[in-house]
Amino acid sequence: MSKYCDILIIGAGPAGLFTAINCAGINGVKVAILEKNPRAGRKLLITGGGQCNLTHAGPMDDFYNHYGSNSRFLRSSFNRFTNRDLLNFFMERGIDFIETVEGKILPSSLKAQDILDVLLQECRKKGVSILYNEHVQEVIQKKDRFIVNTRTNVYSSKALVIAVGGKSYPSTGSTGDGYKLASSLGHTIIEPRPGLTPLYIYDYPFGELAGISLENIEITQWRNDKKIGTWRGDVLFTHRGLSGPGILNSSRYIEPGDIVRLNFIDAPSLEKSRQELDGILTENGRQLVKTAVSTYNLPRRLMDRLISLAGISRDDRCAHLSRDKRNKLAEFLSSFPMKVEKLGGFNIAMVTCGGVSLKEIKPNNMESKLIPNLFFVGEILDIDGDTGGYNLQAAFSQGYMAGRYLKSIYSVNI
Ligand SMILES: Cc1cc2nc3c(=O)[nH]c(=O)nc-3n(C[C@H](O)[C@H](O)[C@H](O)COP(=O)(O)OP(=O)(O)OC[C@H]3O[C@@H](n4cnc5c(N)ncnc54)[C@H](O)[C@@H]3O)c2cc1C
Repeated sequence: MSKYCDILIIGAGPAGLFTAINCAGINGVKVAILEKNPRAGRKLLITGGGQCNLTHAGPMDDFYNHYGSNSRFLRSSFNRFTNRDLLNFFMERGIDFIETVEGKILPSSLKAQDILDVLLQECRKKGVSILYNEHVQEVIQKKDRFIVNTRTNVYSSKALVIAVGGKSYPSTGSTGDGYKLASSLGHTIIEPRPGLTPLYIYDYPFGELAGISLENIEITQWRNDKKIGTWRGDVLFTHRGLSGPGILNSSRYIEPGDIVRLNFIDAPSLEKSRQELDGILTENGRQLVKTAVSTYNLPRRLMDRLISLAGISRDDRCAHLSRDKRNKLAEFLSSFPMKVEKLGGFNIAMVTCGGVSLKEIKPNNMESKLIPNLFFVGEILDIDGDTGGYNLQAAFSQGYMAGRYLKSIYSVNI
């Protein structure tokens, strides 16, 4: 015998919990969440290093610059449920927020647990049942019902919301199950790949500088000798490659074999960099090169490394520097090339790019265009945001849209 509920949600992450909160509370309408873990929101608890960067403070118009080429899909949900709405929801329930200089919004307690507690408390208030240790294996559509098989039970429902996340950080429960469920129901899956992930570099020259972070660096991406992208952001040297927000955000576009160039001195072009360096070297002819270039204000260890990579010795004086070495140093300062060996895998990627094709989802209520009463919300969809609170905002806004729509249907039908 199957256990019946009107609205069944798979996955108790931010998207699933917020869908439940927004559709529950109508007398006689049963809403339940099936969660495979023994607890809800495992990934939510590690967001922002456990501090939860819930959303971003910028105007909503700017949000669309932070989701790659699919951002238009979010227009309806962001119109209906903005960053202000999200903050109000939590503030009305006792959470205060702080804003960082970069515009990240975090609970002032700096505890993701506080955000999760509010969501769980709201689920309890609205009578949502969260059924833990229920690992969904299969979903079958039969006439006007969905049959959902977990390892131990069979459920049936009139409406089904799939909110099982992507494939990144599988230890949190998001192991890519949703793609199998969605494709068994006829949905197209855009090949999932790791997003917001560091780059590993061939013959990486900055391993000894691991931990050094550079602010607002221009990053260009090259393939087959053609420049195909330009990004900006903070860059962090790691032991085996590059990370930091600027790199993580551009990683959705980068492939192994691409060349990534860093403009350490914000030069407008290689030519301008050569001219500027020539000027400095000529003006300080009798000085050591390493002393003269300190005007660039780069971390000393980085400058020493660039000088040495350009083949310049510690005792070389400006006036004696060959044209070749001048050109090399100018290139390294303004356009340092590194070949991408690989991107960080799903174990360390913060989000999943790819997922359920947006062409098959209605953006105004998150319902499948293929199967009525089937909904997809959150990271399972083929859309991913930059670092800075953009992914959680998308999950909450989509949950709001699906939840409110379901509530409106059940309010009419009851
Ligand atoms: C380290 C890290 C830090 C991050 N920091 C931030 C941040 O500060 N700000 C931000 O905006 N975003 C951040 N993100 C991204 C953000 O956490 C996700 O985009 C967001 O959690 C997606 O929500 P979701 O509900 O779609 O999926 P998830 O949070 O992945 O939740 C899916 C739920 O479904 C359950 N589930 C999966 N399969 C099944 C199944 N077969 N049966 C039953 N249940 C199942 C899972 O156990 C899980 O509980 C971070 C991600 C990581 C990994």
